[in-house]
Amino acid sequence: MKLIIESVSENESFARTAVAAYITRLDPTLEELADVKTAVSEAVTNSIIHGYSKNKGEIEIECRLDGSEVTIVVTDKGVGISDIEKAMEPLYTTKPEWERSGMGFAFMEAFMDQLEVTSEPGKGTCVLMKKRIGKEQDMK
Ligand code: ATP
Ligand code: MG
Repeated sequence: MKLIIESVSENESFARTAVAAYITRLDPTLEELADVKTAVSEAVTNSIIHGYSKNKGEIEIECRLDGSEVTIVVTDKGVGISDIEKAMEPLYTTKPEWERSGMGFAFMEAFMDQLEVTSEPGKGTCVLMKKRIGKEQDMK
């Protein structure tokens, strides 16, 4: 599934709902659904406010299923991140004046099983996340 949205905040809820709909076939628990929606929301919001900021551009959200594991890749062609390690530290934000708390990456990491961020300044950012859905059911 590939979705391309313009980088306006109104599209963030659409993107998160579209991904939630995409994974319903895995029969996720409400908690898993909430986790995935939050992670997508954080990644897309970052592309909108940090990647493109006052400019507008396209954000691509790609989803794949591999058995019970969903892979979600959020890509923008915005400003990019110069120090990814630092950016991923909890509470680190480059926009404190905007009341950002610097917890976006920490949430993505906590709510998903895997998080990989690649970025090149001036070229854009790619956030890859994976999560196995339905773990609880499997354990029964
Ligand atoms: P919060 O998510 O809590 O509102 P935040 O967005 O600043 O605050 P993170 O989501 O953890 O916190 O991101 C940390 C920093 O990484 C951001 O402040 C920004 O500098 C950088 N960043 C994150 N995503 C992108 C992106 N897509 N493009 C450019 N910079 C980014
Ligand atoms: Mg953020």
